[in-house]
Amino acid sequence: MDSFDVLVVGAGLSGAVSAERLATRAKRVLVVERRDHIAGNCYDFVNEHGIRVSKYGAHLFHTDDERVWAYVSRFAEWERWEHQVVAYVEGKLVPVPVNITTVNRLFNQHIRSEAEMREWLEREHEGLVPRPPRDGREAAIARVGPRLYHQIFHTYTWKQWGKHPEQLDASVLERIPVRDNWDPRYFSDRYQALPRHGYTQMVQRILAHPRIAVCVGVDFFELLHSDRAVFPGLPSEAVQNVRRRWQQHQLAVVYTGPIDRYFRQAGYPRLEYRSIQFTTQHLRLSGYYQPNSVVNYPGPEVPFTRIVEYKHFLQQRSDYTTIVSEVSSDEGDPYYPVPNQRNRDLYRKYQQLAEREQHVHFIGRLASYKYFNMDQAIANALQYWDNHEV
Ligand code: UDP
Repeated sequence: MDSFDVLVVGAGLSGAVSAERLATRAKRVLVVERRDHIAGNCYDFVNEHGIRVSKYGAHLFHTDDERVWAYVSRFAEWERWEHQVVAYVEGKLVPVPVNITTVNRLFNQHIRSEAEMREWLEREHEGLVPRPPRDGREAAIARVGPRLYHQIFHTYTWKQWGKHPEQLDASVLERIPVRDNWDPRYFSDRYQALPRHGYTQMVQRILAHPRIAVCVGVDFFELLHSDRAVFPGLPSEAVQNVRRRWQQHQLAVVYTGPIDRYFRQAGYPRLEYRSIQFTTQHLRLSGYYQPNSVVNYPGPEVPFTRIVEYKHFLQQRSDYTTIVSEVSSDEGDPYYPVPNQRNRDLYRKYQQLAEREQHVHFIGRLASYKYFNMDQAIANALQYWDNHEV
């Protein structure tokens, strides 16, 4: 535990998969994580009421990527879970993504076929926006028309991003499809599942390689660039070794943190990130507080975007139920990159710096400033190491 070939910064999905790939190539890998736990934003745990909860918001795994599915199946047992979301709109609970039920309920329609639904949607948005849509507002209106846009997307997006949909890339709103049938599922992917024993255990297993050492509570910048001598779980020889090899350009680094934090001395403006403030309540209730695991609140009457009731996931049982409401904010840990032109241009400048940074590999949602889903983060790390060596 005192000499390493690679230092991986961050023990989320991108860091863990990178560490595992490199360890299988006989590299000795040290993973350092600033937080006091592994698994990044998919960190979950069983709370005092016996309910598995996610510290940083619900994580629903879904993928069409056979390779990713085969990979995660090596490290976790999965149970099929087809996520469904309902939104509370003008006193009614309606399915999101918009489907036939959503329209019938909100507009007192009697649509009975996919063809009728397509006609109804066509009438809603006909000729209103150019194609391809140029921003988030146009993307949503092009799919559902202005009425549903205002009911479901406009204010929700403002609450989620602190920006109007026209200030965001079309891709943000295009994450949500519109359905011309009754399919109530949030995702359409072939594989939709939750890890029976949680994401934390899955990441633990990815990292459980004899050539990988993991230290939590260790800040990379402090480790490399401060005088601090003692770090939890790291022998002082290891600290000295890592610093010496870094100075001699012999240590490869896989950096999965925010790219603008790495280059904060460069004098560029900071990239924008969105964070979430969670408010947790435990209710003494052996049943459920709400009909679905996730209920969205797209209207202006409440500040939160959604409430997650964790007991729903994999039908857990408890005399209590834990509900968590989410209010987005600019303050706090970076969760979401904010996809728009300004940030894309700025990211390119950081990317140019990254390309010149010898021995450092920038990977993952925060380092590549991409709104990756979990499967995309895993696929991206796997592909990266197909094509790179340290
Ligand atoms: N969105 C919305 N209303 C909803 C659900 C989503 O306006 O009821 C918009 C919103 O801009 C959101 C985006 O669609 O940021 C993507 O939603 P998704 O559920 O994919 O976001 P995530 O799960 O990543 O928070």
